[in-house]
Order: sequence, then C-alpha cells, then structure tokens
Amino acid sequence: MPDTTLDEQTDKSAGPIIHLPTKVSRTSLIENGMLTLNEWGANHICKVCIANSGSCCRDCRHLLDGVGCQRRNTSCTAWLCGFHKFLLYEVGQLEEWNNFWHQVPGQDYREDFTPEYIVIDKALRRQKQTMEHLGEALAADLQEMERSHIAIGIIITLREKLDKNIDQLTTVENDPKKQIRLRRKIKVLTSGFERFHHLLKKYHEQQADVISP
Ligand code: SF4
Ligand code: SF4
Repeated sequence: MPDTTLDEQTDKSAGPIIHLPTKVSRTSLIENGMLTLNEWGANHICKVCIANSGSCCRDCRHLLDGVGCQRRNTSCTAWLCGFHKFLLYEVGQLEEWNNFWHQVPGQDYREDFTPEYIVIDKALRRQKQTMEHLGEALAADLQEMERSHIAIGIIITLREKLDKNIDQLTTVENDPKKQIRLRRKIKVLTSGFERFHHLLKKYHEQQADVISP
C-alpha cells in the first residue's frame, strides 16, 4: 500500500494572479495539462495499461519506440481514456478539465492545428492538494485485477466501460435519476479498486479537514 500522506500542501495555484481572458501559448497548455494529470499519478496508470497492451498511442506515427511521443499536441493532452476520466471524476476535476479544453481550438486526431497563442476565458486550476498516490493505487489495483483474472485484457474492457458510462454521465446533467443510475454503475464497475478507494476516502477526509474552520 503506498504512503498515504498528501503531497506537499503548497498553494499550487499561487503565483501571478491571472486575469481572464488571457493569452497563453499552445506549449503552456500542453505542459499544464500534463502536469495536472501527473499530479494525480495518471502516469502510473499508463505504465500498467501499456504493459497490458492497452496503449492509446499504438501505431501512431509520432511514437518513437522506447522514447515516446515525438509530437505532443493539445488533442492528445486533452483526450482522456476511461481510467483517467475516472481519476478526475473521483477527485472532482473532470468538469473543469472538459470545460478548459473545450475552449482550445484546432484539436484533431493525434495532431493539432492549435495556434501558437490563443486567448482563454477559463483557467485550468490545479488543486491545492493533490495525491499522486491515487494514480499509483489505481495502477496497482489494475495490475492485480489483470493478474487474478483468467480473461486476458480485462482491464482494457473495464477502461472502455468506464469511458462510456462517465461520458453518459456528463450528458444527463438535468436528469437526476439517470445520474444516480450511472453513478451506481460506475461504483459497481470499480468496486474492486480497494487500494484506490482506501486512499480516496483519506483524500476526501483530509480535504474536509482543510476546508472546515
Ligand atoms: S489508454 Fe489511458 S492509461 Fe492507457 S496509455 Fe493511454 S492514456 Fe495511459
Ligand atoms: S501524437 Fe498522440 S497518439 Fe501519437 S504518440 Fe503522441 S500522444 Fe500518442
């Protein structure tokens, strides 16, 4: 089980106050997106996914064997697979993520036509408290799941189901009954993520402590 302490509680949103709308570079959008995901430990999930033949970069002409992506772009940064969607959904950052990337023009498949500078109206605020171990715990749960199931590729099937259900959830904002049904389904699908849920509970408790006076 990974260490359960929160990452250093520095105010990551500190720094120059940004007045919106503001002009930002395409490169900074990509860097900020990657940083945000990795603060939650998304990279750990990728390692397990790739090791189990689930890489979303497979057959991409920009992928250099053993080195990685040679053409990072806004499209691939904005795009979330089912696992990463689930991670942001659980920490309450999915809606902000979607809203942020929605305003970035020029996204395409495995490339972008985003101008070098754009004006944004919404910022992607990185939360003051993050927990990289959440992604690490989810990765460990996924590895365990893959190891203990006879069916090969079970985690990839699960990734697609999560993707579908979380996407549906974002389209039923005005239908509480459907929302409840989908949230239940997501809960059932992820009931085997013991390490992850254990840490998530701690994360929410510690967050509540910080918020309460
Ligand atoms: S599908 Fe998701 S977890 Fe797998 S490599 Fe791609 S981004 Fe990472
Ligand atoms: S362009 Fe996108 S799909 Fe291709 S290697 Fe880079 S991140 Fe992966």
